[in-house]
Amino acid sequence: MQTLVDQALPARYVGRFAPSPTGPLHAGSLVAALASWLDARAHGGQWLVRIEDIDTPRCVPGADTLILQQLAACGLRPDAPPLYQSQRGGHYQAALDQLIAAHLAYPCACTRQDIERALAERGQARPRHGELVYPGTCRHGLQGRPARAWRFLTENIEQNRPPALMGRAQAAPDSIASQLLHWQDRRLGPQQQNVEEAVGDFVLKRADGLWAYQLAVVVDDGAQGITDIVRGEDLADNTARQILLQRALGLPLPRYLHTPLVLGANGEKLSKQNGASALDTTHPLQALDEAGQVLGLPAGLSARTTADWLQQAVAFWSRATKIER
Ligand code: GLU
Repeated sequence: MQTLVDQALPARYVGRFAPSPTGPLHAGSLVAALASWLDARAHGGQWLVRIEDIDTPRCVPGADTLILQQLAACGLRPDAPPLYQSQRGGHYQAALDQLIAAHLAYPCACTRQDIERALAERGQARPRHGELVYPGTCRHGLQGRPARAWRFLTENIEQNRPPALMGRAQAAPDSIASQLLHWQDRRLGPQQQNVEEAVGDFVLKRADGLWAYQLAVVVDDGAQGITDIVRGEDLADNTARQILLQRALGLPLPRYLHTPLVLGANGEKLSKQNGASALDTTHPLQALDEAGQVLGLPAGLSARTTADWLQQAVAFWSRATKIER
């Protein structure tokens, strides 16, 4: 399997798997769960499960229990009771208040149409992953319109100082360059993103009152003392936004490892949205073998129980992890 680079041996290791209970686990989500479990065990660390049930309209009743049962059938049991994001609104509000006080979050009144119009006026209507880059309209105030959402200010975070409210339309090229965020992914290598340019100021609390994934995930990773985030590569693009929030909230920066995705017959990432079927755990060794192969583990580990299989897989995982000092 591919070598996974560790920049430094962590003094302690706390990892997590953070499924959204929008349906049962599928083959792709087992890969992420298994990788985070193996990495935690290979580092002698703790492994936690967090149920990310903040997007309530998308949550399916009972899916959390089913996911935990599917994990358990594969021998993956968390070291502490799962944390439910739906019960943590007070913590997200405290973090939002902290960002508002630091002038890093502001209310936004824009509808999607407002954003499209503002971008078109600038000749910049370029969707990215189907998302529009927010042009920063409400950074200057709501102009009498009612607030719909709270956004995080991506600019000036490097200096962690309030924005100048006037005369900052043209950022000098060197200030753009200085906001290029760099980080290391243990599998993907050196990464970089200018969040301001690629995404724009992003939503922390939605118009419908729901908390946004970016804020909730950062607050909870911080609260749970997560040192290592191991998750699917489809989430890699969120990392820069999350690092900005970690810095702004004064949280320690975790290490990142994004795992390969399982592709469906159409070549697209397997996901609940494109109808991936529920993981069949009647033959857990087969499910583990298939997930393991996506992660580069040898096929057909000669194991008779899931515990046996997992023990052998941890040994492979440990050998593939290279510590760089
Ligand atoms: N809840 C997210 C998902 O199921 C994962 C969040 C994360 O691992 O950061 O896609």
